[in-house]
Amino acid sequence: MQNNRALIDIPDTHSRLFKTIGKVAEEAGMRVFVVGGYVRDYYLNRSIEQITDIDFVTVGSGIELAEKVARTLRAENISVFKQFGTAQVKYKELELEFVGARKESYRRDSRKPIVEDGTLEDDQLRRDLTINAMSWCLNPDNYGLLIDPFEGIQDLKRRVIRTPIDPETTFEDDPLRMLRAIRFASQLDFYVAEETLESIKKMAGRLSIISKERIADEVNKIVLSPVPSKGFDLLLETELLEQFLPEMVKLVGVDEIKGQRHKDNFWHTLEVLDNVAKVSDDLWLRWAAILHDIAKPPTKRFVDGVGWTFHGHDALGAKWVPRLFRRLGLPMDERMKYVQKLVRLHLRPIALVSDEVSDSAIRRLLYEAGDEIEDLMILCRADITSKNEWKVRKFQKNFDRVERRIKEVEEKDKIRNWKNPISGEEIMKELEVGPSPLIGKVKDRIKDAIMDGEIPNDYDAAYQYLVEIKDQYKETDLS
Ligand code: ATP
Ligand code: MG
Repeated sequence: MQNNRALIDIPDTHSRLFKTIGKVAEEAGMRVFVVGGYVRDYYLNRSIEQITDIDFVTVGSGIELAEKVARTLRAENISVFKQFGTAQVKYKELELEFVGARKESYRRDSRKPIVEDGTLEDDQLRRDLTINAMSWCLNPDNYGLLIDPFEGIQDLKRRVIRTPIDPETTFEDDPLRMLRAIRFASQLDFYVAEETLESIKKMAGRLSIISKERIADEVNKIVLSPVPSKGFDLLLETELLEQFLPEMVKLVGVDEIKGQRHKDNFWHTLEVLDNVAKVSDDLWLRWAAILHDIAKPPTKRFVDGVGWTFHGHDALGAKWVPRLFRRLGLPMDERMKYVQKLVRLHLRPIALVSDEVSDSAIRRLLYEAGDEIEDLMILCRADITSKNEWKVRKFQKNFDRVERRIKEVEEKDKIRNWKNPISGEEIMKELEVGPSPLIGKVKDRIKDAIMDGEIPNDYDAAYQYLVEIKDQYKETDLS
């Protein structure tokens, strides 16, 4: 492998850039290499045109080389991280990361390494996986030479995830690498080598020293992989899942009472997740799939004559979402609210399947789901995981009907993102009262009248209605 010359088939912009960087390094008497993701993705035939971050390693100071490169490229945007010995240059759409080759040693209780300058070999030894430890020399004398000390190319061909050195040492030094190994297996659909897998199982508990933000970055990449169940299956098997989302592990298992079994909610959840992944790349819709049944274990009951029930798991699951998001280091903003809403509403469309469902029930769901109605329907359709194809077809057809009704009602009544046509101020004026909880009650009454189709969804009708009902509330207020 050592004599392999590559770099024949990379975009012109990258090629010019690499040659320039090689020259700058040469003039400074330094060696420079492209390393990691870029080299890996090139051999995987992944579209490297889309790569935005490229990693360079130099024998010497990464910061010094970055400064020289930035000057030559006239790139003004450079960030230096002195404590890590790294620097980042922004050049066009690219983020160029420079690091000095280093040797790292770790203490057991911390992931902050003691860092010393090292050779390229030292640097490759400290990388997480063989497929991420390949590099290309950029200096003019050896331009394009592949340096692949751990047979990364072979592992790419055999589709194997493996650590460059003894896995226990690699994972002891930085336990996040266990999660990265599974992340790459899931993203690339690779196998984790037996010895590497065994070490992860043995050392899963060490993940506890890793910050939730770093964990979340990797978990989200697993969630976004083409078939995310692949990653979650490995997370369960290695017990890494137990470390950051034990609630999901509790979904595993099937109980049987009086010959009746419920389905295994863990595998069901993964099927739902894969189903969503087939039709959407949205990270948060995928998280909604992961969490939609999360509260099934504590709501599980066996009811004679009915069978297994999970009554209220939708509401309880929604209640858990903020706590889970906070613990996982996921954003506590409207994205969390979105997941929470989908978890809370995920059973509602099923209740609308029957022919006798009134427009009123449809309006209420539209009102509650708002702009999330389409995503909710994707989740509900993904939630159909029966092995019986006839049943699946029947359920999907039912949802076709629900969607038709939703469309009809929406076109007629414009309930999505509904706002009460009557304001609080108007109610106060009409009732001749100041701010009080009463105003909310009157508003709700108007809302109910519109949702139930008693009055049309417009200002005049709502105002007329307010005039009609106001006396009932005046009395309440005085009493
Ligand atoms: P991606 O396509 O996700 O960016 P990548 O391989 O570029 O994949 P990065 O997280 O950008 O991943 O890391 C760049 C390189 O740095 C990796 O290829 C690997 O060589 C090395 N690396 C990153 N994180 C670690 C780690 N925790 N331990 C050891 N090496 C790491
Ligand atoms: Mg990268």
